[in-house]
Amino acid sequence: MGKQNGSCWWCVKAVKWLPVIFILTIVAWSYYAYVVQLCYYTIDNYVQKAFYLLFFHILILMFLWSYWQTVYTNLMPVPDKFKIPDVEMEKLQQAETEETQRQILERFAQDLPVTNRTIKGAMRFCEKCQLIKPDRAHHCSVCGTCVLKMDHHCPWVNNCVGFHNYKFFMLFLAYGLLYCMFITATSLQYFIQFWKGELDGMGRFHLLFLFFVALMFAVSLTSLFFYHCYLVVRNRSTLEAFRAPMFRTGKDKDGFSLGKYNNFQEVFGDNPRLWFLPIFSSLGNGVVYPVRSQHQGTPNTYDSMGSTQNSFGDGVNFPERLCNEDTHTLLGPGTQQWGDETEFDSPSPYTNQVHH
Ligand SMILES: [Zn+2]
Ligand SMILES: [Zn+2]
Repeated sequence: MGKQNGSCWWCVKAVKWLPVIFILTIVAWSYYAYVVQLCYYTIDNYVQKAFYLLFFHILILMFLWSYWQTVYTNLMPVPDKFKIPDVEMEKLQQAETEETQRQILERFAQDLPVTNRTIKGAMRFCEKCQLIKPDRAHHCSVCGTCVLKMDHHCPWVNNCVGFHNYKFFMLFLAYGLLYCMFITATSLQYFIQFWKGELDGMGRFHLLFLFFVALMFAVSLTSLFFYHCYLVVRNRSTLEAFRAPMFRTGKDKDGFSLGKYNNFQEVFGDNPRLWFLPIFSSLGNGVVYPVRSQHQGTPNTYDSMGSTQNSFGDGVNFPERLCNEDTHTLLGPGTQQWGDETEFDSPSPYTNQVHH
């Protein structure tokens, strides 16, 4: 496709990095303000200085490591067996009715491990990637590809948050929050001294802003972090929290929930030593998820020309479209996006087989 050539495409690509550069600039400045202005110039007590510097460096290291992992994790593409071969695509395009299209998809997907359906009970199909969407996968219009267990597209990390980096994203929020809380708590007394006029020199303005900026980010991150904690223990992605996943038996917002501790382990893994490190340890393969017993069973046996009770309606909305609206933003209104929009993308050679 031609739009990947030309300067415009590069401009868009560069602009997408601006939020990341913004965050890194703030972190770099906070490092200077804390280490140089607060610890070096303002604090006299050596024990206090050492103590502050030690914890500060542990937190900033963990924060930047988690952030790096969230930004640079490559989201693995949907396995090849979900891709619809050209022959089937041709049949789909030639099909005269929605019902025929639906049956072609059902027949193709009968051996695939999918339990999710569209709102109308049909196979979830991505027209642009030309594949059957695995459970919990959605198409990201920003990334232009289907993302496994898509949570949302986060501009602050210039990446989709999905199965492969959700744990990193959680740790990024957690360490970001701890980092801001630590700075707020330890700079409070100097903030008070500033107002009492007990500090002098230009450096005192760095301390003033350090306190304010850390407090502001701490407040924003608190709600976002605890919201995602809630989602983890309920085993829902942000998308599923907005629209409950559909199973053959109907909608079930808790369809993937296995109990709080199991839900936690599904994201953070079963090895407690790795829970707090941004090293991949989520359970599963991102394609197949344990579901509640009522949704289990062999996926979709093809009912030859039998069922006509569910049709595609007007047929225009043949591929399911979930959310296209921008919702749920915290660090900046209207900036997080997700969608089931589609774009033409060449299939990726992903051969990871489903073993579960
Ligand atoms: Zn797609
Ligand atoms: Zn995305």
